Amino acid sequence: MRNFRILIVITIILFLILAIADTIVGIALWWYGLLFILWFLMMAIGSFSMSWKFYLNPITSHKVLRDKKIALTFDDGPNPDFTLKVLQILKDYNAKATFFCIGQHIETYPEILKAIAVDGHDIGNHSFSHDLMIDFNSTERWLQEIKQTDNSIHKITGKKATLFRPPFGVTTPKLARALKVTEHKVIGWNIRSFDTVISNPQKILKRITKRVHPGAIILLHDKQTNVLLVLEHLLQFLKEHEYQAVTINELLHDN
Ligand SMILES: [Zn+2]
Repeated sequence: MRNFRILIVITIILFLILAIADTIVGIALWWYGLLFILWFLMMAIGSFSMSWKFYLNPITSHKVLRDKKIALTFDDGPNPDFTLKVLQILKDYNAKATFFCIGQHIETYPEILKAIAVDGHDIGNHSFSHDLMIDFNSTERWLQEIKQTDNSIHKITGKKATLFRPPFGVTTPKLARALKVTEHKVIGWNIRSFDTVISNPQKILKRITKRVHPGAIILLHDKQTNVLLVLEHLLQFLKEHEYQAVTINELLHDN
């Protein structure tokens, strides 16, 4: 049973307990209000946190991996200012990564997408529009978003995208239904860099390095200045600690 269903069942049981208590001893109305607020909060957190595995079963790390391998992932590209520079840094350190690309950007910068593929990195689907309101999409609209991006990736690189990362890390029942049809592997992360929120690159780097462990999946974005400095220092750190940065597919197929 999916975790959101378990939450609904627990909420119904608690509601029934309250109702029974109400008929026997009589309870204040705010108990019902409290239960509703708690349910609402849990539903919201479950939708925003992929590790709660609420509607889907996303992969957020390789839990049993003992080899010193990690996966670097870059969201929201291809970007004309940063992606090629990111590729160069990865090449300098002989590191591989996974790029979760937005369909609209792929169609604007097909050459950059091609460069990612030529360098041997994984390319994943990160929706077509990455619209702010995307999580209100119907299942049909989600299917359109996912298939259009898959087609662009295939047209440019000749490769089928098998990985999907939900925009903003948010999952909904409608997205889950669409992904059941498209059969993508859903990839989350277990180390969030907050590189689009924190402005100090040293702080971003520290957040990541103190959490690094074998099998970790690290979230970065190749769309802002900090990514270059953070990546350079992170790869230096990984080298010193004998970690290897690999693609998601390599990380997952390693037992
Ligand atoms: Zn994104």
